[in-house]
Parts: sequence; C-alpha cells; structure tokens
Amino acid sequence: RGRVMLQVRVANIDAGHVLVLAEDRTEARRIEAIRRDFTVNVSHELKTPVGAIALLAETMQDAADDPDAVRHFAGRMQKESMRLGALVHEIIELSRLQVAGALQEVGLISVDDVIREAADRARVVAQAKEVVLAVAADTGLSVYGDHALLVTAVRNLLDNAVAYSDGGTRVGVGVSAEDGLVSIAVVDQGIGISAAEQSRVFERFYRVDPARSRDTGGTGLGLSIVKHVAADHGGDVSIWSEPGRGSTFTLRIPAAHVPAPAETPTPSDA
Ligand code: ADP
Repeated sequence: RGRVMLQVRVANIDAGHVLVLAEDRTEARRIEAIRRDFTVNVSHELKTPVGAIALLAETMQDAADDPDAVRHFAGRMQKESMRLGALVHEIIELSRLQVAGALQEVGLISVDDVIREAADRARVVAQAKEVVLAVAADTGLSVYGDHALLVTAVRNLLDNAVAYSDGGTRVGVGVSAEDGLVSIAVVDQGIGISAAEQSRVFERFYRVDPARSRDTGGTGLGLSIVKHVAADHGGDVSIWSEPGRGSTFTLRIPAAHVPAPAETPTPSDA
C-alpha cells in the first residue's frame, strides 16, 4: 500500500553508456489483482448453478417413470439454466467494463429514450408482481455516452427496485439536471437496505440476502455493472435507503452541452 512498483531494465549501449528504463508497474499490478479476485469469485459463482443442474439431471434419471416428478425437475433445471445464462451474460458485461475504454459507441444520447427503453423491459416483471411503474420520460435532456450501456444501467436499477418491492407499491424514475449533471433517480418503496450494507452492495457478487436474490434471479453483479457504467461516463451512482421504507439509487452523468427545451432559462438568458 502506497508503494510504487518499478520494473527496471538496463541495456549496454556502447562502452561507457548504459540505458536505464524504469516502468511504473503499480497500476498493472492492481489490475492483475482485480482479475485474480474476479476469476476466483466467478468460478465459485458458476459452480452453484452448474452443480444444481447436474444434480437435477441425475435425480430426473432416477425418477424417469414418474411423469410428474420429471416435469417438476425439468422446471427446476430450466430455472437454473436461465440463472446460469444471466450470470454468464453479466460476467461478460462486467469484464468488458473492467477494461478501461469499454464505451463502444459514443454519441449524443437522449436520456428520455434510455429511460423509456429500460422501463419497457422492466414493465413485464413489474406487471407480473403488481408493482406500479411510474416513469415520466419527457425531459429533452441529453448526455454523451453509450446508449446500450446506459439502458443496461437504468434497467439494472429498475429490475432491483421491482425485485425488492412488494406488490401494490410504486417504483418511479425521476430525472433532473443541475450543475452540469443529469441525475436519474430510481425510487422504490421496497424492503430497503441498512446503513451497514449500503457501502457493500456495489461490490461484485455481494447480496444482502443471497436466498432472496437467488429467488428473484439476481446475480449479485447488477450494481457493480451500474457503478462501472457510471464511472466510464465520468459520473457516479449513489444510494439513499432506509429499511422498511425503500431505496433511491441516483445515477449522475455529465450533461451534454446542447440546448434542451426542459432546461429552465436563468435570468442572464432572458
Ligand atoms: P442482485 O442481482 O442480487 O440484485 P445487485 O448487484 O443488483 O445484485 O444488488 C446487490 C444486492 O443489493 C442485492 O442482492 C440486494 O440485497 C441489494 N439491493 C439492490 N437493490 C436493492 C433495492 N432497490 N432494494 C433493496 N435491496 C436492494
């Protein structure tokens, strides 16, 4: 900690002259450590669904002459396979984001389009759970960024808001612009997160309640992905929450400098 790793190479140029090359390896060592930890986490996380699928297949073979049992185990196998698929997808997404410069297609992005697209995808689950999704996407605000990644980030926040809320409650998305930043706030009235857990939920594979997360198809990677997407856009993500009252996750991204109809003119503009 605090120490700098230098890799030094010395070459003889000619009689009496040497060339010394010193390369700072501190950052490279840090990235290597992140990769190593990630690989350990990933192998551990993949073992659970793979092991479950193997076990279910074995049980199904033993119960081959009982159609009801076969149907039951096939259903559970399907659920585990879907979980495995989601996990692999998020692992790939996160490893891509952990490499600097992960933004693939950068352009001027409409914040309203991002929110609408994310909400359209989250709506199916919300309706099934009878959670009311209240989204107003008519701000006219823009940011520079990667459309697909921003949709993924907002979608992850919305999916969580719905997953950790009970039926009959409300999940809302609010957008505001201040000090050159666009804030997208996803608000829920769900179970909430204690102060002690709030600092940990952005860690890879961290879940407050692993059983509940598994039931909702969670991978424990959603919020790490949101954090990376925010950072890659020069922004951040913050949390407000109170157990039993709900949570608000706010994604802040620098606003693009284009005149937007929703911006209130300041006195000097008049
Ligand atoms: P998961 O796939 O498990 O939802 P995330 O990285 O998205 O993983 O979130 C990490 C953990 O943070 C979750 O397992 C859950 O315990 C907690 N969490 C995230 N969002 C919310 C929310 N809106 N309300 C309550 N708990 C949440």
